[in-house]
Amino acid sequence: MGEMTINETAHAIHDWAKRKGWWESDRNTGELLALAHSELSEALEDYRIGKMDTYLDDNNKPCGFPSEIAYCMIRLMDTAVALGINLEHEIEQKMAYNEKRPYRHGGKVA
Ligand SMILES: [Mg+2]
Repeated sequence: MGEMTINETAHAIHDWAKRKGWWESDRNTGELLALAHSELSEALEDYRIGKMDTYLDDNNKPCGFPSEIAYCMIRLMDTAVALGINLEHEIEQKMAYNEKRPYRHGGKVA
């Protein structure tokens, strides 16, 4: 995917998901969010056991913390395109707002 923009990447991911049959019927948005979250949970488990590098399992499937983070992004990008969300615009808008916020957003610890 190299030098693709965020939106180009998101659309390529959604096109792939459609080709693979994941959008032949309407999908429940709550389920899509839960599936993205499941990848974060897998990332947390990898973190807990120190699998912080990507490795290939017996089926050549990428596994490990970085791969789970990536898959979460893939699922979110697929979902965003399906719902008509312009991710680039939303990220730019949110970061423009964040840039104006005070250091640690006024004293938050996390
Ligand atoms: Mg996973």
